[in-house]
Amino acid sequence: MTETGNVVIVGAGPSGLLLAGDLADAGVPCTVLERRVGESNLTRAFAVHARTLELLDQRGVAEALLSTGERVRRVRLFGEAVLDLSRLPSRHRYVLVTPQYETERVLEERAVAAGAEILRGREATGLRQDSGGVTLDVRAADGTGHALRAAYAVGCDGVHSTVRRALGLPFPGGSVIRSVMLADVRLADAPREVLTVGATGDAFALLVPFGDGWYRAVAWNRAHQAPDSEPVEFAEVRDTVRRALGTDHGMHDPRWTARFHSDERQVPHYRIGRVFLAGDAAHVHSPVGGQGMNTGLQDAANLGWKLAAALRGQAPPGLLDSYHEERHPVGRAVLRGSGAATRAVLLEPRALRALRAVAARVALRTPPVARRATGAVSGLDIAYPAPHGAHRLTGRRAPDVRLAGTPGRLFEALRDGRFVLVVAANDPAVTYLATKRWADRVRCALAGGATRTTALVRPDGYIAWATDETAPDRRATEIRDALAAWCGPPAERPAHERHGRERQARER
Ligand SMILES: Cc1cc2nc3c(=O)[nH]c(=O)nc-3n(C[C@H](O)[C@H](O)[C@H](O)COP(=O)(O)OP(=O)(O)OC[C@H]3O[C@@H](n4cnc5c(N)ncnc54)[C@H](O)[C@@H]3O)c2cc1C
Repeated sequence: MTETGNVVIVGAGPSGLLLAGDLADAGVPCTVLERRVGESNLTRAFAVHARTLELLDQRGVAEALLSTGERVRRVRLFGEAVLDLSRLPSRHRYVLVTPQYETERVLEERAVAAGAEILRGREATGLRQDSGGVTLDVRAADGTGHALRAAYAVGCDGVHSTVRRALGLPFPGGSVIRSVMLADVRLADAPREVLTVGATGDAFALLVPFGDGWYRAVAWNRAHQAPDSEPVEFAEVRDTVRRALGTDHGMHDPRWTARFHSDERQVPHYRIGRVFLAGDAAHVHSPVGGQGMNTGLQDAANLGWKLAAALRGQAPPGLLDSYHEERHPVGRAVLRGSGAATRAVLLEPRALRALRAVAARVALRTPPVARRATGAVSGLDIAYPAPHGAHRLTGRRAPDVRLAGTPGRLFEALRDGRFVLVVAANDPAVTYLATKRWADRVRCALAGGATRTTALVRPDGYIAWATDETAPDRRATEIRDALAAWCGPPAERPAHERHGRERQARER
């Protein structure tokens, strides 16, 4: 049996790679097992939403990904109905369209640079756990087997998760859409818009660019529903696209085709003892809305700092359980939203389709509805439960506020993986607490603008605690309590200070 780092992650898809980078950045030794040897994961996702770009910004890699794709500010849904992302309350007022392999490349480079070990050609075939750790059975590409031991394991191994099955967990749900055809093609007559979507009731199509002259066509033909194993005829893809979009854009030279079906399923528990599930291993749904990869990345961002705190012995009681408590409801909401959107896209009767188009257009022109829709799609509205009586900001996403000094904004301050205590006013008692007694876990930053609010921001960019208290002594007490509740016990007072106080006491 080989003792590995502290955490074994199964699966080097987007979820596993982000988690590996976060753990390695936090100094936690981690190993990723990936059964694929060399080839990259099948590119399925193209849409990277604003909240995910913010998470990448908090890790210093957003720019690297932004340079690979195109920013889409307005997404046309049904006819005249447009989702306008240009007013999102974020630096990223758009959806980034870039192939999934680019997201994975950026995340893998970061994880490897931070020291994560990624073992390719290694398939997890089973696992067991006891009070001291987890043992994983691993099969190498040459067929040999061995066992690995770790403190925790995380299944980021996709929809057919071996880890989920080894835990004996059900994956309840059903099929939401069948016989969706994928084809990578060239277009003689490229569309004007980056994302081209259309649906007639009998046909649905989406065209999206890889950025190198190739396009992914996604097409669904109600009249021909076939199992995934049935080969795709290029002529059928072209006809279906023509019916859904009114033109096939001179589609030619298909280099790859596939057929898939999409399920809507969610595992009931994201944590069993020392084993966690994230990404498609925990939830799957229709690709409509482009939420799957984005949700998996957010799972990973939620879990990484909690595991790191647990391994350092600094996790307050219940912190690891809060992963399920916070992320399971988000997964459920995503399933509901994407299911409703899929059913709307596939509506059959012509009259209902006309009604859908009018209703969507009117709704999206109503500011509160448009704000709710863009907040949900972009992921910016995701919030976590707050205790009764907590400050109104507790559990919400922290916006990228301006800070006085360097770094100049909150997302830059979050890049070293610590909590950030954003204080409203420079106050020595507060600075002492954060920078001396919790310095390894907390960074103290002075708010750049006028504010009364002092907030403790978690390493994943959500607000753990906040206060509007202005009296310095009461505020300092509240802050000390919040740091103790979220960041674990404070470090011992530095020896010279302890001795100084003892000397003062003797002299008195
Ligand atoms: C057509 C289509 C379009 C989509 N578009 C979007 C979109 O625009 N935006 C979006 O957010 N999402 C989209 N999605 C969903 C998105 O692709 C997935 O949600 C995402 O890939 C999930 O990432 P993951 O890391 O959780 O799992 P995966 O990407 O499935 O990665 C799992 C990894 O685990 C490995 N693995 C599996 N079993 C084992 C094992 N036993 N041992 C070792 N390794 C193992 C696999 O080889 C794989 O590399 C789309 C999906 C489809 C089908």
